[in-house]
Amino acid sequence: MPSVYFTPDHEEFRRQVRRFMDQEIAPHADEWEEAGVIPREAFGQMGRLGFLGISFPEEYGGSGADMLFAVIFLEELTRSRMGGFCAAVSVQQFMATQHIYRWGSEELKRNYLTPSIAGDKVGALAITEPDTGSDVAAIRGKAVRDGEHWVIDGAKTFITNGALGDFYTLAVKTDPAGGAAGVSLIVVDREAPGVSARRLKKLGWYCSDTAEVAFEGVRAPAGRLVGRENMGFYYLMEAFPLERLCGAAISVGSADICLQEALAYMRQRTAFGRPLTKYQALTHRLADLASQLEAARQLIYHAAWLMENGHPHERECTMAKLVATELNQRVADACLQCLGGYGFMEEYPMARFFRDARAGTIVAGTSEIMREILARLMTGEAPPDRGKAMAGEQGPGLAELFNSLPGRLRTEKVGDWQGVFHFDLAGGRPGQWTVEIGGGGCRVSQGHQGQAGCLVEMDAATYIGIETGALDPQAAFMGGKIKVSDLGAMLKYLTAFRPLDK
Ligand SMILES: Cc1cc2nc3c(=O)[nH]c(=O)nc-3n(C[C@H](O)[C@H](O)[C@H](O)COP(=O)(O)OP(=O)(O)OC[C@H]3O[C@@H](n4cnc5c(N)ncnc54)[C@H](O)[C@@H]3O)c2cc1C
Repeated sequence: MPSVYFTPDHEEFRRQVRRFMDQEIAPHADEWEEAGVIPREAFGQMGRLGFLGISFPEEYGGSGADMLFAVIFLEELTRSRMGGFCAAVSVQQFMATQHIYRWGSEELKRNYLTPSIAGDKVGALAITEPDTGSDVAAIRGKAVRDGEHWVIDGAKTFITNGALGDFYTLAVKTDPAGGAAGVSLIVVDREAPGVSARRLKKLGWYCSDTAEVAFEGVRAPAGRLVGRENMGFYYLMEAFPLERLCGAAISVGSADICLQEALAYMRQRTAFGRPLTKYQALTHRLADLASQLEAARQLIYHAAWLMENGHPHERECTMAKLVATELNQRVADACLQCLGGYGFMEEYPMARFFRDARAGTIVAGTSEIMREILARLMTGEAPPDRGKAMAGEQGPGLAELFNSLPGRLRTEKVGDWQGVFHFDLAGGRPGQWTVEIGGGGCRVSQGHQGQAGCLVEMDAATYIGIETGALDPQAAFMGGKIKVSDLGAMLKYLTAFRPLDK
Protein backbone atom coordinates (compact mmCIF):
# COMPACT_ATOMS: atom_id res chain seq x y z
CA MET A 1 0.00 0.00 0.00
CA PRO A 2 1.46 3.45 -0.88
CA SER A 3 2.61 5.48 2.10
CA VAL A 4 4.11 8.93 2.58
CA TYR A 5 6.76 7.35 4.77
CA PHE A 6 8.14 4.63 2.49
CA THR A 7 10.14 4.61 -0.74
CA PRO A 8 10.45 1.63 -3.12
CA ASP A 9 13.73 0.80 -1.30
CA HIS A 10 11.86 0.52 2.00
CA GLU A 11 9.29 -1.77 0.40
CA GLU A 12 11.98 -3.96 -1.15
CA PHE A 13 13.65 -4.24 2.25
CA ARG A 14 10.31 -5.27 3.77
CA ARG A 15 9.97 -8.05 1.19
CA GLN A 16 13.53 -9.26 1.92
CA VAL A 17 13.05 -9.41 5.67
CA ARG A 18 9.63 -11.03 5.33
CA ARG A 19 10.98 -13.70 2.99
CA PHE A 20 13.84 -14.43 5.37
CA MET A 21 11.58 -14.68 8.42
CA ASP A 22 8.99 -16.84 6.62
CA GLN A 23 11.53 -19.18 5.03
CA GLU A 24 14.49 -19.33 7.43
CA ILE A 25 13.16 -18.61 10.90
CA ALA A 26 9.42 -19.38 11.25
CA PRO A 27 9.81 -23.06 10.25
CA HIS A 28 11.99 -23.53 13.38
CA ALA A 29 9.60 -21.80 15.75
CA ASP A 30 8.18 -24.92 17.43
CA GLU A 31 11.62 -26.49 17.80
CA TRP A 32 13.31 -23.38 19.26
CA GLU A 33 10.42 -22.66 21.58
CA GLU A 34 10.50 -26.25 22.83
CA ALA A 35 14.27 -26.12 23.33
CA GLY A 36 14.09 -22.62 24.84
CA VAL A 37 17.06 -21.52 22.74
CA ILE A 38 17.76 -19.48 19.62
CA PRO A 39 20.74 -21.02 17.81
CA ARG A 40 23.69 -18.65 17.46
CA GLU A 41 23.70 -19.29 13.74
CA ALA A 42 20.43 -17.34 13.44
CA PHE A 43 22.29 -14.21 14.60
CA GLY A 44 25.15 -15.03 12.19
CA GLN A 45 22.71 -15.38 9.27
CA MET A 46 21.04 -12.07 10.09
CA GLY A 47 24.41 -10.39 10.52
CA ARG A 48 25.56 -11.55 7.09
CA LEU A 49 22.34 -10.21 5.55
CA GLY A 50 22.92 -6.80 7.14
CA PHE A 51 19.85 -7.09 9.39
CA LEU A 52 21.65 -6.35 12.68
CA GLY A 53 23.16 -2.96 11.93
CA ILE A 54 20.37 -1.18 10.14
CA SER A 55 20.90 2.30 11.50
CA PHE A 56 24.58 2.01 12.47
CA PRO A 57 27.23 3.56 10.20
CA GLU A 58 28.96 1.54 7.52
CA GLU A 59 32.38 1.93 9.19
CA TYR A 60 31.18 -0.50 11.89
CA GLY A 61 29.56 -2.86 9.39
CA GLY A 62 26.11 -1.24 9.52
CA SER A 63 23.90 0.00 6.71
CA GLY A 64 23.47 3.64 7.80
CA ALA A 65 19.77 3.36 6.95
CA ASP A 66 16.99 5.52 8.37
CA MET A 67 14.58 4.76 11.25
CA LEU A 68 11.81 3.73 8.88
CA PHE A 69 13.99 0.78 7.80
CA ALA A 70 14.39 -0.12 11.46
CA VAL A 71 10.61 -0.02 11.99
CA ILE A 72 10.06 -2.24 8.96
CA PHE A 73 12.59 -4.70 10.31
CA LEU A 74 10.89 -4.79 13.72
CA GLU A 75 7.45 -5.29 12.20
CA GLU A 76 8.66 -8.09 9.94
CA LEU A 77 10.66 -9.73 12.73
CA THR A 78 7.31 -10.86 14.09
CA ARG A 79 6.87 -13.16 11.06
CA SER A 80 9.20 -15.42 13.07
CA ARG A 81 6.01 -16.07 15.07
CA MET A 82 8.04 -15.99 18.30
CA GLY A 83 7.84 -13.06 20.71
CA GLY A 84 11.05 -14.32 22.33
CA PHE A 85 12.94 -14.14 19.05
CA CYS A 86 11.76 -10.56 18.50
CA ALA A 87 12.93 -9.67 22.01
CA ALA A 88 16.37 -11.25 21.69
CA VAL A 89 17.10 -9.64 18.33
CA SER A 90 15.72 -6.20 19.16
CA VAL A 91 17.65 -6.06 22.45
CA GLN A 92 20.83 -6.90 20.55
CA GLN A 93 20.44 -4.19 17.92
CA PHE A 94 18.38 -1.43 19.50
CA MET A 95 19.29 -1.58 23.19
CA ALA A 96 22.54 -3.30 24.23
CA THR A 97 24.63 -1.81 21.42
CA GLN A 98 22.90 1.59 21.13
CA HIS A 99 24.70 3.10 24.09
CA ILE A 100 28.03 1.76 22.93
CA TYR A 101 27.47 3.37 19.55
CA ARG A 102 26.19 6.69 20.87
CA TRP A 103 28.56 7.23 23.76
CA GLY A 104 31.24 4.52 23.79
CA SER A 105 34.91 4.85 22.90
CA GLU A 106 36.27 3.75 19.56
CA GLU A 107 37.75 0.69 21.28
CA LEU A 108 34.35 -0.33 22.69
CA LYS A 109 32.76 0.12 19.28
CA ARG A 110 35.38 -2.04 17.57
CA ASN A 111 35.25 -4.75 20.24
CA TYR A 112 31.49 -4.92 20.88
CA LEU A 113 29.47 -2.99 18.31
CA THR A 114 31.14 -4.32 15.14
CA PRO A 115 30.94 -8.01 16.17
CA SER A 116 27.32 -7.52 17.28
CA ILE A 117 26.39 -6.08 13.89
CA ALA A 118 28.10 -9.08 12.27
CA GLY A 119 26.08 -11.43 14.47
CA ASP A 120 29.23 -12.83 16.10
CA LYS A 121 28.44 -11.41 19.54
CA VAL A 122 25.13 -11.17 21.34
CA GLY A 123 24.56 -8.37 23.85
CA ALA A 124 22.22 -7.68 26.77
CA LEU A 125 21.15 -4.43 28.41
CA ALA A 126 21.13 -5.03 32.17
CA ILE A 127 19.26 -2.41 34.20
CA THR A 128 16.51 -4.13 36.22
CA GLU A 129 17.39 -5.45 39.68
CA PRO A 130 15.49 -7.77 42.02
CA ASP A 131 14.43 -4.76 44.14
CA THR A 132 13.80 -2.19 41.43
CA GLY A 133 12.67 -2.02 37.81
CA SER A 134 10.55 1.00 36.95
CA ASP A 135 12.58 3.23 39.28
CA VAL A 136 15.89 3.05 37.43
CA ALA A 137 17.59 5.66 39.63
CA ALA A 138 17.12 3.35 42.64
CA ILE A 139 19.44 0.61 41.35
CA ARG A 140 22.01 -0.52 43.90
CA GLY A 141 24.51 -2.60 41.94
CA LYS A 142 27.76 -0.68 42.19
CA ALA A 143 31.12 -0.23 40.54
CA VAL A 144 34.07 1.09 42.51
CA ARG A 145 37.25 2.29 40.82
CA ASP A 146 40.37 0.33 41.77
CA GLY A 147 43.38 1.57 39.79
CA GLU A 148 42.80 0.73 36.15
CA HIS A 149 39.71 -1.38 36.86
CA TRP A 150 36.12 -1.14 38.00
CA VAL A 151 35.13 -3.63 40.67
CA ILE A 152 31.47 -4.53 40.26
CA ASP A 153 29.06 -6.05 42.78
CA GLY A 154 25.31 -6.42 42.42
CA ALA A 155 22.44 -8.42 40.96
CA LYS A 156 20.31 -7.95 37.87
CA THR A 157 17.15 -9.78 36.91
CA PHE A 158 14.84 -10.42 33.93
CA ILE A 159 17.78 -9.76 31.59
CA THR A 160 17.10 -10.71 27.96
CA ASN A 161 20.14 -12.53 26.44
CA GLY A 162 21.40 -12.62 30.03
CA ALA A 163 22.65 -16.22 30.30
CA LEU A 164 23.64 -17.10 26.74
CA GLY A 165 24.77 -13.72 25.42
CA ASP A 166 28.38 -12.50 25.34
CA PHE A 167 28.29 -9.16 27.11
CA TYR A 168 26.20 -6.83 29.22
CA THR A 169 25.81 -3.10 28.87
CA LEU A 170 25.42 -2.83 32.59
CA ALA A 171 23.86 0.02 34.60
CA VAL A 172 25.56 0.46 37.99
CA LYS A 173 25.94 3.09 40.64
CA THR A 174 29.35 4.76 40.58
CA ASP A 175 28.13 7.37 43.07
CA PRO A 176 25.72 5.58 45.43
CA ALA A 177 24.60 8.89 46.99
CA GLY A 178 24.02 10.53 43.63
CA GLY A 179 20.61 9.08 42.72
CA ALA A 180 20.03 9.41 38.98
CA ALA A 181 23.26 11.39 38.73
CA GLY A 182 25.24 8.47 40.16
CA VAL A 183 24.51 5.89 37.45
CA SER A 184 27.14 4.76 34.91
CA LEU A 185 27.14 2.22 32.09
CA ILE A 186 29.95 -0.32 31.94
CA VAL A 187 30.42 -3.13 29.41
CA VAL A 188 31.06 -6.47 31.12
CA ASP A 189 31.80 -9.84 29.49
CA ARG A 190 29.51 -12.66 30.51
CA GLU A 191 32.52 -14.91 30.96
CA ALA A 192 34.37 -12.51 33.26
CA PRO A 193 35.28 -14.14 36.61
CA GLY A 194 32.60 -13.35 39.21
CA VAL A 195 29.66 -13.28 36.75
CA SER A 196 27.05 -16.00 37.17
CA ALA A 197 23.70 -16.28 35.39
CA ARG A 198 20.60 -18.39 35.93
CA ARG A 199 17.83 -18.70 33.35
CA LEU A 200 14.32 -17.96 34.57
CA LYS A 201 11.14 -19.89 33.77
CA LYS A 202 8.43 -17.64 32.41
CA LEU A 203 4.90 -17.35 31.01
CA GLY A 204 5.93 -16.80 27.38
CA TRP A 205 8.86 -15.82 25.16
CA TYR A 206 10.12 -19.40 25.59
CA CYS A 207 12.97 -19.27 23.07
CA SER A 208 14.37 -16.10 24.59
CA ASP A 209 16.88 -16.36 27.38
CA THR A 210 15.72 -14.26 30.33
CA ALA A 211 18.14 -14.43 33.23
CA GLU A 212 19.03 -13.41 36.73
CA VAL A 213 22.68 -12.35 36.79
CA ALA A 214 24.98 -11.93 39.79
CA PHE A 215 28.18 -9.84 39.75
CA GLU A 216 30.58 -10.60 42.60
CA GLY A 217 33.85 -8.70 42.67
CA VAL A 218 33.87 -8.59 38.86
CA ARG A 219 36.83 -6.62 37.51
CA ALA A 220 36.25 -4.67 34.29
CA PRO A 221 39.01 -2.56 32.71
CA ALA A 222 38.52 1.21 33.20
CA GLY A 223 38.06 1.64 29.44
CA ARG A 224 34.81 -0.33 29.57
CA LEU A 225 33.02 2.72 30.94
CA VAL A 226 30.52 3.90 28.31
CA GLY A 227 30.85 7.65 27.86
CA ARG A 228 31.33 9.56 31.07
CA GLU A 229 31.11 8.53 34.71
CA ASN A 230 27.73 9.21 36.39
CA MET A 231 26.05 10.06 33.07
CA GLY A 232 24.47 6.63 32.57
CA PHE A 233 20.95 7.59 33.63
CA TYR A 234 20.86 10.32 31.02
CA TYR A 235 22.20 7.99 28.34
CA LEU A 236 19.47 5.50 29.22
CA MET A 237 16.85 8.22 29.24
CA GLU A 238 17.94 9.42 25.83
CA ALA A 239 17.52 5.93 24.39
CA PHE A 240 14.19 5.10 26.09
CA PRO A 241 12.09 6.51 23.22
CA LEU A 242 13.84 4.12 20.83
CA GLU A 243 13.14 1.19 23.19
CA ARG A 244 9.48 2.20 23.29
CA LEU A 245 9.31 2.50 19.54
CA CYS A 246 10.73 -1.03 19.27
CA GLY A 247 8.11 -2.40 21.65
CA ALA A 248 5.41 -0.62 19.68
CA ALA A 249 6.57 -1.80 16.24
CA ILE A 250 6.91 -5.40 17.41
CA SER A 251 3.42 -5.22 18.90
CA VAL A 252 1.73 -3.99 15.71
CA GLY A 253 3.63 -6.58 13.69
CA SER A 254 2.52 -9.34 16.09
CA ALA A 255 -1.09 -8.13 16.13
CA ASP A 256 -1.10 -8.01 12.35
CA ILE A 257 0.12 -11.56 11.91
CA CYS A 258 -2.27 -12.73 14.61
CA LEU A 259 -5.22 -11.24 12.68
CA GLN A 260 -4.00 -12.82 9.44
CA GLU A 261 -3.69 -16.25 11.06
CA ALA A 262 -7.15 -15.94 12.58
CA LEU A 263 -8.74 -14.96 9.26
CA ALA A 264 -6.98 -17.81 7.44
CA TYR A 265 -8.40 -20.25 9.99
CA MET A 266 -11.88 -18.72 9.85
CA ARG A 267 -12.04 -19.03 6.07
CA GLN A 268 -11.58 -22.79 6.14
CA ARG A 269 -13.42 -23.63 9.36
CA THR A 270 -17.18 -24.07 9.12
CA ALA A 271 -19.84 -23.97 11.83
CA PHE A 272 -23.52 -24.63 11.15
CA GLY A 273 -22.64 -25.14 7.49
CA ARG A 274 -21.01 -21.75 6.91
CA PRO A 275 -17.39 -20.52 7.15
CA LEU A 276 -16.64 -18.61 10.33
CA THR A 277 -15.95 -15.49 8.21
CA LYS A 278 -19.74 -15.31 7.67
CA TYR A 279 -20.40 -14.64 11.36
CA GLN A 280 -20.58 -10.94 12.12
CA ALA A 281 -20.15 -11.54 15.82
CA LEU A 282 -16.57 -12.54 14.99
CA THR A 283 -15.75 -10.38 11.97
CA HIS A 284 -17.02 -7.09 13.43
CA ARG A 285 -14.83 -7.58 16.46
CA LEU A 286 -11.87 -8.13 14.13
CA ALA A 287 -12.87 -5.10 12.04
CA ASP A 288 -12.73 -2.91 15.15
CA LEU A 289 -9.32 -4.26 16.07
CA ALA A 290 -7.96 -3.89 12.52
CA SER A 291 -9.03 -0.23 12.56
CA GLN A 292 -7.27 0.39 15.87
CA LEU A 293 -4.25 -1.47 14.54
CA GLU A 294 -4.00 0.81 11.52
CA ALA A 295 -4.19 3.88 13.77
CA ALA A 296 -1.41 2.51 15.99
CA ARG A 297 0.71 1.62 12.97
CA GLN A 298 0.48 5.14 11.54
CA LEU A 299 1.38 6.63 14.93
CA ILE A 300 4.50 4.45 14.98
CA TYR A 301 5.52 5.56 11.48
CA HIS A 302 4.97 9.17 12.49
CA ALA A 303 7.05 8.73 15.67
CA ALA A 304 9.85 7.11 13.64
CA TRP A 305 9.71 9.95 11.13
CA LEU A 306 9.95 12.53 13.93
CA MET A 307 12.93 10.68 15.41
CA GLU A 308 14.65 10.36 12.05
CA ASN A 309 14.21 14.04 11.28
CA GLY A 310 15.50 15.31 14.60
CA HIS A 311 12.15 16.49 16.00
CA PRO A 312 11.02 15.92 19.61
CA HIS A 313 9.57 12.41 19.67
CA GLU A 314 9.33 11.20 23.26
CA ARG A 315 5.59 11.87 23.44
CA GLU A 316 4.78 9.99 20.24
CA CYS A 317 7.08 7.03 21.02
CA THR A 318 5.54 6.73 24.49
CA MET A 319 1.99 6.92 23.13
CA ALA A 320 2.84 4.35 20.45
CA LYS A 321 4.26 1.92 23.03
CA LEU A 322 1.23 2.31 25.30
CA VAL A 323 -1.35 1.95 22.54
CA ALA A 324 0.32 -0.81 20.51
CA THR A 325 1.26 -3.14 23.38
CA GLU A 326 -2.22 -2.98 24.95
CA LEU A 327 -3.84 -3.43 21.54
CA ASN A 328 -1.69 -6.47 20.80
CA GLN A 329 -3.08 -8.13 23.92
CA ARG A 330 -6.67 -7.42 22.89
CA VAL A 331 -6.01 -8.69 19.36
CA ALA A 332 -4.37 -11.89 20.61
CA ASP A 333 -7.29 -12.51 22.96
CA ALA A 334 -9.94 -11.95 20.25
CA CYS A 335 -8.07 -14.02 17.66
CA LEU A 336 -7.63 -16.90 20.07
CA GLN A 337 -11.39 -16.82 20.63
CA CYS A 338 -11.98 -17.04 16.87
CA LEU A 339 -10.10 -20.35 16.78
CA GLY A 340 -12.29 -21.85 19.51
CA GLY A 341 -10.64 -24.84 21.20
CA TYR A 342 -7.81 -24.88 18.68
CA GLY A 343 -6.84 -21.42 19.87
CA PHE A 344 -5.97 -22.97 23.21
CA MET A 345 -3.88 -25.77 21.69
CA GLU A 346 -0.20 -25.66 20.85
CA GLU A 347 -0.70 -27.02 17.34
CA TYR A 348 -1.60 -23.50 16.18
CA PRO A 349 0.67 -20.50 16.92
CA MET A 350 -2.28 -18.60 18.44
CA ALA A 351 -1.63 -19.82 21.98
CA ARG A 352 1.93 -18.55 21.67
CA PHE A 353 0.80 -15.16 20.29
CA PHE A 354 -1.53 -14.87 23.25
CA ARG A 355 1.03 -15.57 25.96
CA ASP A 356 3.84 -13.64 24.21
CA ALA A 357 1.67 -10.52 23.89
CA ARG A 358 1.40 -10.37 27.68
CA ALA A 359 5.00 -9.24 28.11
CA GLY A 360 4.56 -6.12 25.96
CA THR A 361 2.94 -3.94 28.62
CA ILE A 362 5.69 -4.80 31.14
CA VAL A 363 8.99 -4.68 29.25
CA ALA A 364 10.71 -1.45 28.17
CA GLY A 365 8.59 0.44 30.72
CA THR A 366 5.16 -0.66 31.95
CA SER A 367 1.88 0.79 30.72
CA GLU A 368 1.51 2.58 34.06
CA ILE A 369 4.88 4.27 33.59
CA MET A 370 3.98 5.20 29.99
CA ARG A 371 0.79 6.86 31.27
CA GLU A 372 2.72 8.61 34.02
CA ILE A 373 5.23 10.03 31.52
CA LEU A 374 2.47 11.16 29.17
CA ALA A 375 0.55 12.76 32.01
CA ARG A 376 3.69 14.66 33.03
CA LEU A 377 4.33 15.75 29.46
CA MET A 378 0.74 17.00 29.28
CA THR A 379 0.68 18.84 32.58
CA GLY A 380 4.35 19.79 32.86
CA GLU A 381 4.21 18.56 36.45
CA ALA A 382 7.23 17.24 38.29
CA PRO A 383 6.90 13.74 39.74
CA PRO A 384 5.44 13.59 43.27
CA ASP A 385 8.82 13.09 44.94
CA ARG A 386 10.12 16.46 43.74
CA GLY A 387 8.37 18.24 46.62
CA LYS A 388 6.15 21.25 46.54
CA ALA A 389 6.36 23.38 43.43
CA MET A 390 8.10 26.64 44.16
CA ALA A 391 7.73 28.46 40.87
CA GLY A 392 5.21 31.25 40.55
CA GLU A 393 4.59 34.70 41.85
CA GLN A 394 6.36 34.15 45.17
CA GLY A 395 9.14 32.07 43.66
CA PRO A 396 12.69 33.27 43.06
CA GLY A 397 13.48 35.34 39.97
CA LEU A 398 15.96 34.55 37.21
CA ALA A 399 18.81 36.64 38.66
CA GLU A 400 18.41 35.00 42.06
CA LEU A 401 18.47 31.54 40.50
CA PHE A 402 21.53 32.17 38.33
CA ASN A 403 23.39 33.88 41.18
CA SER A 404 22.77 30.89 43.44
CA LEU A 405 24.64 28.56 41.04
CA PRO A 406 28.23 29.12 42.37
CA GLY A 407 27.09 28.24 45.89
CA ARG A 408 25.41 25.06 44.64
CA LEU A 409 28.32 23.78 42.56
CA ARG A 410 29.24 20.20 43.40
CA THR A 411 32.99 20.77 43.27
CA GLU A 412 33.62 17.09 43.97
CA LYS A 413 31.62 16.20 40.85
CA VAL A 414 33.00 18.69 38.36
CA GLY A 415 36.68 18.14 39.24
CA ASP A 416 38.78 19.83 36.56
CA TRP A 417 35.96 19.84 34.00
CA GLN A 418 35.51 23.13 32.11
CA GLY A 419 32.52 24.45 30.23
CA VAL A 420 31.03 27.74 29.06
CA PHE A 421 27.23 27.80 28.78
CA HIS A 422 25.27 30.54 27.11
CA PHE A 423 21.63 30.65 28.21
CA ASP A 424 19.15 32.32 25.90
CA LEU A 425 15.86 32.61 27.75
CA ALA A 426 12.73 33.74 25.92
CA GLY A 427 9.13 34.41 27.00
CA GLY A 428 7.73 36.77 29.62
CA ARG A 429 11.01 37.27 31.48
CA PRO A 430 13.66 37.03 28.75
CA GLY A 431 17.37 37.24 29.44
CA GLN A 432 20.84 36.10 28.44
CA TRP A 433 23.26 34.60 30.92
CA THR A 434 26.68 32.99 30.85
CA VAL A 435 27.69 30.23 33.26
CA GLU A 436 31.39 29.35 33.22
CA ILE A 437 32.55 26.24 35.05
CA GLY A 438 36.27 25.66 35.48
CA GLY A 439 39.11 25.47 37.97
CA GLY A 440 36.76 23.87 40.48
CA GLY A 441 34.51 26.94 40.55
CA CYS A 442 31.65 28.63 38.75
CA ARG A 443 31.18 32.20 37.51
CA VAL A 444 27.86 33.69 36.45
CA SER A 445 27.44 36.84 34.38
CA GLN A 446 24.67 38.55 32.51
CA GLY A 447 24.71 38.57 28.71
CA HIS A 448 26.71 36.20 26.53
CA GLN A 449 30.38 36.37 27.52
CA GLY A 450 33.24 34.54 25.79
CA GLN A 451 33.01 31.59 23.43
CA ALA A 452 30.11 29.23 24.27
CA GLY A 453 30.79 25.50 24.48
CA CYS A 454 27.06 24.95 24.68
CA LEU A 455 24.11 27.18 23.80
CA VAL A 456 20.96 26.50 25.83
CA GLU A 457 17.63 27.92 24.63
CA MET A 458 14.34 27.74 26.49
CA ASP A 459 11.52 29.79 27.90
CA ALA A 460 12.39 31.64 31.13
CA ALA A 461 9.39 30.00 32.82
CA THR A 462 10.77 26.57 31.90
CA TYR A 463 14.13 27.45 33.44
CA ILE A 464 12.51 28.69 36.63
CA GLY A 465 10.26 25.63 36.75
CA ILE A 466 13.19 23.24 36.46
CA GLU A 467 15.37 25.02 38.98
CA THR A 468 12.58 25.19 41.54
CA GLY A 469 11.51 21.58 41.09
CA ALA A 470 8.13 22.44 39.56
CA LEU A 471 9.08 21.01 36.18
CA ASP A 472 10.72 17.73 35.38
CA PRO A 473 13.88 18.43 33.30
CA GLN A 474 13.55 15.09 31.50
CA ALA A 475 9.99 15.82 30.48
CA ALA A 476 10.86 19.39 29.47
CA PHE A 477 13.84 18.23 27.45
CA MET A 478 12.08 15.34 25.74
CA GLY A 479 9.01 17.48 25.16
CA GLY A 480 11.12 19.86 23.07
CA LYS A 481 10.98 22.74 25.57
CA ILE A 482 14.76 22.93 25.78
CA LYS A 483 17.20 23.16 22.88
CA VAL A 484 20.91 22.56 23.45
CA SER A 485 23.82 22.66 21.01
CA ASP A 486 25.86 20.03 22.92
CA LEU A 487 23.80 17.39 24.66
CA GLY A 488 26.80 15.75 26.37
CA ALA A 489 27.88 19.04 27.95
CA MET A 490 24.32 19.76 29.07
CA LEU A 491 23.94 16.36 30.69
CA LYS A 492 27.13 17.00 32.62
CA TYR A 493 25.84 20.47 33.58
CA LEU A 494 22.66 18.94 35.01
CA THR A 495 24.68 16.90 37.47
CA ALA A 496 27.02 19.74 38.41
CA PHE A 497 24.73 21.65 40.80
CA ARG A 498 22.89 20.77 43.99
CA PRO A 499 19.13 21.43 43.87
CA LEU A 500 17.81 24.53 45.59
CA ASP A 501 16.97 24.08 49.26
CA LYS A 502 13.23 23.69 49.47
C1 LIG B 1 10.35 -11.05 29.69
C2 LIG B 1 11.05 -9.86 30.26
C3 LIG B 1 12.23 -9.41 29.70
C4 LIG B 1 12.90 -8.31 30.25
N1 LIG B 1 14.10 -7.91 29.72
C5 LIG B 1 14.83 -6.96 30.37
C6 LIG B 1 16.15 -6.62 29.94
O1 LIG B 1 16.66 -7.12 28.94
N2 LIG B 1 16.86 -5.71 30.66
C7 LIG B 1 16.35 -5.11 31.77
O2 LIG B 1 17.05 -4.31 32.38
N3 LIG B 1 15.09 -5.39 32.19
C8 LIG B 1 14.32 -6.30 31.52
N4 LIG B 1 13.05 -6.60 31.96
C9 LIG B 1 12.54 -5.93 33.12
C10 LIG B 1 11.44 -4.91 32.82
O3 LIG B 1 11.97 -3.79 32.19
C11 LIG B 1 10.78 -4.59 34.17
O4 LIG B 1 10.09 -5.76 34.58
C12 LIG B 1 9.84 -3.42 34.11
O5 LIG B 1 10.55 -2.22 33.86
C13 LIG B 1 9.04 -3.26 35.40
O6 LIG B 1 9.86 -3.29 36.52
P1 LIG B 1 9.53 -4.31 37.73
O7 LIG B 1 9.29 -5.64 37.16
O8 LIG B 1 10.59 -4.17 38.74
O9 LIG B 1 8.16 -3.79 38.30
P2 LIG B 1 7.94 -2.59 39.41
O10 LIG B 1 8.74 -1.40 39.01
O11 LIG B 1 8.18 -3.19 40.74
O12 LIG B 1 6.42 -2.32 39.20
C14 LIG B 1 5.40 -3.18 39.70
C15 LIG B 1 4.04 -2.59 39.31
O13 LIG B 1 3.94 -1.26 39.87
C16 LIG B 1 3.67 -0.33 38.84
N5 LIG B 1 4.36 0.93 39.14
C17 LIG B 1 5.66 1.13 39.49
N6 LIG B 1 5.92 2.44 39.64
C18 LIG B 1 4.76 3.10 39.36
C19 LIG B 1 4.38 4.47 39.33
N7 LIG B 1 5.25 5.45 39.57
N8 LIG B 1 3.09 4.76 38.99
C20 LIG B 1 2.19 3.78 38.73
N9 LIG B 1 2.50 2.46 38.74
C21 LIG B 1 3.76 2.13 39.05
C22 LIG B 1 4.24 -0.98 37.58
O14 LIG B 1 3.65 -0.44 36.42
C23 LIG B 1 3.89 -2.43 37.81
O15 LIG B 1 2.55 -2.65 37.45
C24 LIG B 1 12.35 -7.65 31.38
C25 LIG B 1 11.14 -8.11 31.92
C26 LIG B 1 10.49 -9.18 31.37
C27 LIG B 1 9.18 -9.63 31.98
